[in-house]
Amino acid sequence: LTHVFLDQCSQFSDRPAVIDGITRRTLTYGRLIDSIHRWGAVVQKRWAPGSPPPTVGIFMHNCPDYPVIFFGTTLVGAVVTTLNPSYTAEEVALQLEDSGACLLVIGSELEDVALKAFKLLTDRQLPSPSLFVVGASRSGRSDLRTLLEDSTAPFATHVDVDPSSVAMMPYSSGTTGRPKGVCVTHGAATACSEMISSPAVHWTVDPDMADRMLGLLPFYHIYGIMIIMLQGLKICSTIVTLPKFHQNSFISALQEHKFTTIPLVPPLLKYINECDDVTREHLQSCHTVTCGAAPLSKSTAEEFNRKCGSFVHVCEGYGMTETLITHTTPKEGSKLGYCGKLLPHVQAKIADIDTGAALPPHEKGEIWMKTPCMMARYHNRPDATRDTIDEDGWLHTGDVAVYDEDGYFSIVDRIKELIKVKGFQVSPSELEDVLLKHPAIADAGVIGIPHENHGEVPRAYIVKSKKASVTEKEINEYMKGLLAPYKQLLGGIKFVTDLPKNPTGKLLRRVLAETAAKEA
Ligand code: ATP
Ligand code: MG
Repeated sequence: LTHVFLDQCSQFSDRPAVIDGITRRTLTYGRLIDSIHRWGAVVQKRWAPGSPPPTVGIFMHNCPDYPVIFFGTTLVGAVVTTLNPSYTAEEVALQLEDSGACLLVIGSELEDVALKAFKLLTDRQLPSPSLFVVGASRSGRSDLRTLLEDSTAPFATHVDVDPSSVAMMPYSSGTTGRPKGVCVTHGAATACSEMISSPAVHWTVDPDMADRMLGLLPFYHIYGIMIIMLQGLKICSTIVTLPKFHQNSFISALQEHKFTTIPLVPPLLKYINECDDVTREHLQSCHTVTCGAAPLSKSTAEEFNRKCGSFVHVCEGYGMTETLITHTTPKEGSKLGYCGKLLPHVQAKIADIDTGAALPPHEKGEIWMKTPCMMARYHNRPDATRDTIDEDGWLHTGDVAVYDEDGYFSIVDRIKELIKVKGFQVSPSELEDVLLKHPAIADAGVIGIPHENHGEVPRAYIVKSKKASVTEKEINEYMKGLLAPYKQLLGGIKFVTDLPKNPTGKLLRRVLAETAAKEA
């Protein structure tokens, strides 16, 4: 996997590869490549001959060292598992146990959480991985950077990595349940990188163009791994990392680095639309904004282009940890409200939810996929693997989608989140879209709650627009004028100040359902 970018980048050894957007610490391509080899050597040293490849956990915020550890590990054929830096000690312990990581690299700011997680493992009589700290350790451990930047430290010895072996094990986001470890092979990730580089895809950048890319979306997630780290390095971009979203550092980074590519998620586009401190000038050099992970509404995309100029292409994509990227905006252009067309070599079918029969354009069903980038399996979850990949090799995504006669797809809902009212399937996203058109509503999340006679009924959680006032009665009147009786909000309306979303902008309806259950 590391070879996707390694050879190409050696030609640009003086170009900055990764810059820390806060401290400005910079790794040039030359330094990055050296450090990747040095980390590879550390992993090799701890890999007993004849034993299976070790798994290396990365528990860090986005920073220049992240790709060093990630690709140094894959360089030598070991497996990377990435941990969400906002995890609690309990969540870290669970992923360390499940993944079997025997080395863990952490950012020094996460040392307390990591050590608490180790204590939990010890209490459960489980082994803890060997710990490496990047930055100033509070417990007196040496800074891994000193070793990685030491010109006398050894380089990894060359290995030919089998394309069918597992390169990484990111975990799914846990939007619908417990996150699952997803085994992705070197071959699958490499194929995906080739597919996104196809001339049929809108977003193609030549290494000579010296692209500048914002590295704000989390590197632990498949979007950050594939689009920012892997693809960014493949096009020899300069990636500027930000550890988390902060209005001031975000705007300063836009001002200072004049990005040409900006990977975002829908809530960030919305933020740019609404924030007066972000202006058109900030995006003047930007040719592409990539967007994915959650549905981008037509109105948000339109408003974004109105504000930032139509020269910024919003290049949407769809994918999941299990399939990597399968859809993106094609060269011929985007259609608002659609996440793009299939990448080359990907097959999809929209399957009737009850019978599995292939449906024609404009009919909603579950999207099934066959792709060279498909996961090998879920880690430790043979049952979930069997439920997800059928005997004919179709991966059942769990997403409800629709396509049009030109081959553009739109992701509508998740099957698990459809609300079953008196035998009818009600789409939460349809109700949210209608609610969001109301001028007094800034954000909305709809879930099903149990009902004695109807099975389930929809309930809305609503964030009011700034300074707007609206009552439950007024919203119900508004909905009555637009939707059939079984789609009405019989489960009531709750006004809230914000909605639970994860770091890649996904609405967590599961969390709303937990709140509703507690209140019941
Ligand atoms: P879990 O599988 O653990 O419940 P998750 O499905 O959110 O969590 P990911 O693999 O990170 O975990 O996300 C993939 C999902 O994100 C897709 O199945 C889809 O529901 C959603 N998604 C991704 N891109 C888009 C998009 N462009 N439009 C709408 N939804 C999207
Ligand atoms: Mg999923």
